[in-house]
Amino acid sequence: MYNFVSPTEIKPRGWVKRQLELQRDGLCGNLDKVWPDVRDSAWIGGDREGWERVPYWLDGFLPMAYYLDDKDAIARAERYVTAILDRQQEDGWICPCTQEERATYDLWGVFLIGKVLANYCELTGSERAEKALYRTMRNLYDLMKAGEVELAKWAKHRWYECFIPLQYLHERYKEDWMLELARMLREQGANFWDFVESWKRPLNKWTQYTHIVNLVMMLKYEAVSAKLLGEEVGDAAERLWKILEKYNGTAVGSFTGDECLSGISNTRGTELCSVVELMYTCELLYAITRKPVWGERLEKLAFNALPATISDDMWTHQYLQQVNQINCIRFPGHSYFRTNNSEAHLFGLEPHFGCCTANFGQGWPRLLANNYIKENNSISVTTMIPSELHTTMKGVPVIVRIETEYPFRMDVKISVTAEKSVDFALKLRIPSYSKTYTVNGVTKNNKTLVLRKFEEGETIYTITLSDTPHMVTRPFGLKTVEYGPLVFSLPLEVEYSMKEYVRNDVERKYPYCDYELSSKSEWRYGFAEKQNFTVTKQEGDDVPFSSKAPLLTMKASLRRVGWDFAEGYDTVASPKPISNRALGAAEEFELVPYGCAKLRMTEMPIAKDK
Ligand SMILES: [Zn+2]
Repeated sequence: MYNFVSPTEIKPRGWVKRQLELQRDGLCGNLDKVWPDVRDSAWIGGDREGWERVPYWLDGFLPMAYYLDDKDAIARAERYVTAILDRQQEDGWICPCTQEERATYDLWGVFLIGKVLANYCELTGSERAEKALYRTMRNLYDLMKAGEVELAKWAKHRWYECFIPLQYLHERYKEDWMLELARMLREQGANFWDFVESWKRPLNKWTQYTHIVNLVMMLKYEAVSAKLLGEEVGDAAERLWKILEKYNGTAVGSFTGDECLSGISNTRGTELCSVVELMYTCELLYAITRKPVWGERLEKLAFNALPATISDDMWTHQYLQQVNQINCIRFPGHSYFRTNNSEAHLFGLEPHFGCCTANFGQGWPRLLANNYIKENNSISVTTMIPSELHTTMKGVPVIVRIETEYPFRMDVKISVTAEKSVDFALKLRIPSYSKTYTVNGVTKNNKTLVLRKFEEGETIYTITLSDTPHMVTRPFGLKTVEYGPLVFSLPLEVEYSMKEYVRNDVERKYPYCDYELSSKSEWRYGFAEKQNFTVTKQEGDDVPFSSKAPLLTMKASLRRVGWDFAEGYDTVASPKPISNRALGAAEEFELVPYGCAKLRMTEMPIAKDK
């Protein structure tokens, strides 16, 4: 689909494999055992949620299980898929509700299970699942055409998500009703251009058209429409992104939304669902438009925003992350967040709401699944993450292997093993921060590195990217420091307080408990004017984005500044300091990648003598 190679041709390696293993051994890999909304879901005949949670979970759990070739996880995934297929109705309706409930069932559930089935078909080649997907979409077409169901609520604002399963089917069947269904969806669906003005200042109320997850999904509407309906891809995604970024952008490439758009403050929240969905959007936009900027945006999210908001063991996660996050403690009174509750920033099982619990698992497997694009006798690599592609080019079996600790290291070893000599183009996107780079010691500067003409056997290339730590200007005159795709933060010493309890029949028990995090160290700092940022490679542990042993650190000089708490909240920093005036001499600190710092200061002023 979308020229991505078949997921069966990809294998994880290095830190990506380790990240998937952590996911398997953590919450996503055990959700069917510990969480009632998946364990006892109506999708498999139980009495719990029968809408988005099981499909969300399967969207990450399925590819994770297959990429690790984990027999137990595959068997558990199969049990769910089989139970869902067994319950499909005679006319093709697949969601767990009665005939009478169909008219009010939010069709977002249909789109989501469609995505899951397309994903499953690509992973397994199952003919049964493909037939079921065909019948599901045909049934949706029949019901919409007859006016028996229509788009409302979530489905109305996520209509383009259904284009993904339709794309899968249309690439195989080329039947006109599929396009007609796509047009009906677009016609009934929301047009987000109507709401652009409302994105420019926080509304302080919950609406579908400022909802952060809707908006990050929405950015791909034009691209997926164009692909399916044979239209030209315009620049809608870029124009919409620019508006969202200007008024709601964060230092790590996400948008604020707690849970609707929340402005440019570094202490507003970003929902985890919006991080993984925005990654997926960037992956599709890169595949469809081939504009490098989508690959760069993807890297920033994947290497910063995603790991930051999930614990090292991947058992707990936040609903909301903050860029400057000095505590994650339940607010005793009114929540700091606009429309999310007082515990939305805790690390836990389902802080605030369980959508992210089900949905976060798609982040890492999708990054891998969408990393190789094959077209016109070429293979394009989206991001140089450790992985392996086993495919055939011009009839010749070929293995492309990427070995690296990127983004923690700048050197990448790429090998191409061909059964006999073959000519095709292996295209590598070079990030724009790397103005020059070397390939086997030879300096280059083209934006895309194209390797070709591979001899029989193994050909090895060593690519070394380059960057120097540099500051980026943020709102309120603050700065962040970046190196490669990584944003760096001052990590705060964390004290964890474990919470085990039962609420609404949902048990929180170690390791799927909640944690409050409080900072034990000083956070009121600014960058010294004189800086000699020095990046140091470190020995890690077996957690890629480890909070205990980050693989890369950066020496920086910081100075104390005056900085208050946010008004009315003594556990949240004000979005900006009282002033930039330094209150002390420069002190040396080790900054760490944002993704490794659970409590952190990321946006800081330049501290000056006066
Ligand atoms: Zn969520």
